[in-house]
Amino acid sequence: MKEIKKERELTKSNILGKILFPSSELRKIVSELGNQITDDYRGKEILLVSILRGGIIFLSDLIKEIDLPLSIDFMSISTYGINDETSGVVRITKDLEDSIEGKDVIIVEDIIDTGLTISYLLRNLKSRYPNSVSICTLLNREVRRIVDIDIKYVGFSIGEKYIVGYGLDYKQKFRNLESIYELNTDTVKKDIESLKNNSISK
Ligand code: 5GP
Repeated sequence: MKEIKKERELTKSNILGKILFPSSELRKIVSELGNQITDDYRGKEILLVSILRGGIIFLSDLIKEIDLPLSIDFMSISTYGINDETSGVVRITKDLEDSIEGKDVIIVEDIIDTGLTISYLLRNLKSRYPNSVSICTLLNREVRRIVDIDIKYVGFSIGEKYIVGYGLDYKQKFRNLESIYELNTDTVKKDIESLKNNSISK
């Protein structure tokens, strides 16, 4: 019961807006995604690559719903947009531990927004001779998309609002909320724009 109390305390913050996806909906969609992956890759062994830090809660729930032999690995990256979002530059700050040559890889992301991060990662991983690479994202925000990407698995599509919880942060906080919340834009308006357009901390 301690976890529930913690969420209640955190949700008293005036930074948080309304709940967008309650934990029950998240559990349901994660289970559906796990079933789809199990069906699509039946007979194969897969490697799930998660991007630190936002994607880890989704990854840890997702792998429990996949009924296949699998392994996991992690990458860490930083993105910088110098003046506007189109100038995004991605840098790997922690690379995978193991080779992906000949493997069936699924990149597991928390949210795909402009698509700059994932398109860079896709190009980078494809150059390492995997058997296949596909993308699974919990959330897809198409309204801000800059690069066209083929996403095989999408949990939910969302609009403009900046969100937190279930791994997603605001200034490194709120990752431990079980549900996904909108931020209260009146409180943090200026901040959110700079987060979206300049330096996104993973
Ligand atoms: P992209 O390169 O697609 O623009 O950026 C994707 C990354 O930006 C995500 O992995 C996440 O770290 C961050 N991001 C984008 N939108 C949001 C949001 O609404 N909330 C949070 N917490 N992070 C976001």
